Amino acid sequence: MIKDWDLTQTNLNRLSNRIPEVAVLPTGAIEPHNRHLPEGQDMLHVSYITEQCCKIAWEKTQKVIGLPAIPYGVDCNLMDFPMAIHVSQHTLDAMIKDIIISLYKHGTRKIVIINGHGGNDFTPLLRQTQCDMDIHLFQCDWWKVGLDQYDNFFENSDDHAGEMETSVALALFPELVEMQYAADSTVRPFRFEALRKNWVRTSRRFVKLNDHCASSDPSKASAKKGKEYLDLVINRISNFLIELAQTPLDEFFPHEPDHKKTDQ
Ligand SMILES: [Zn+2]
Repeated sequence: MIKDWDLTQTNLNRLSNRIPEVAVLPTGAIEPHNRHLPEGQDMLHVSYITEQCCKIAWEKTQKVIGLPAIPYGVDCNLMDFPMAIHVSQHTLDAMIKDIIISLYKHGTRKIVIINGHGGNDFTPLLRQTQCDMDIHLFQCDWWKVGLDQYDNFFENSDDHAGEMETSVALALFPELVEMQYAADSTVRPFRFEALRKNWVRTSRRFVKLNDHCASSDPSKASAKKGKEYLDLVINRISNFLIELAQTPLDEFFPHEPDHKKTDQ
């Protein structure tokens, strides 16, 4: 069966009579995740999430298209580990800007980046491009989508290659997970309280944390937890895509047309 919501699978004939209202671009990274997860983890999970969300939104609206993932991400701070591949934010931004312009020329005005890697940050690109072009751009870091429910799913806190990411891998590609090699992810903490409390931020060079490029404990991970968290994330993102596809553009989009006192 041809997946009309997947740009790599549909064809000229099927695309000729429609302009996708919403395009979805996943972004990943190629980098180590502790010793037990695949280097392509971020690209693999974000591709799966994008495909599922676009499928659900397509079935409801026929107005969504998913693009193939950009596999590489910003990884300069992980380059001490074998075969991490770094592409600068500047280069990624340039490529994504070109993709946005291509989609714009084809008539699409709403684009969602589903980001799978914490080192990628497209906020300045989205801000600038929305000022330069008549287009609406959104970034969704998928792992944050269900954080308000995190404690209902997981026992250990979330960070790179920890319980959540390992659970998701066990749910999606268990054949690529070698739990017997997972190290304990103990890290050297910051020396300064301001950094530990996170009201001063910096960027971590991962080789200073430990020798296995991980920062939270994967030992309590399970496929069941991963599946349940993915279900929540996919449900929320696909609902957003459906709303986005069904909402016509006007001068105040994406805001409400009327003023209202809110706490936001
Ligand atoms: Zn990751």
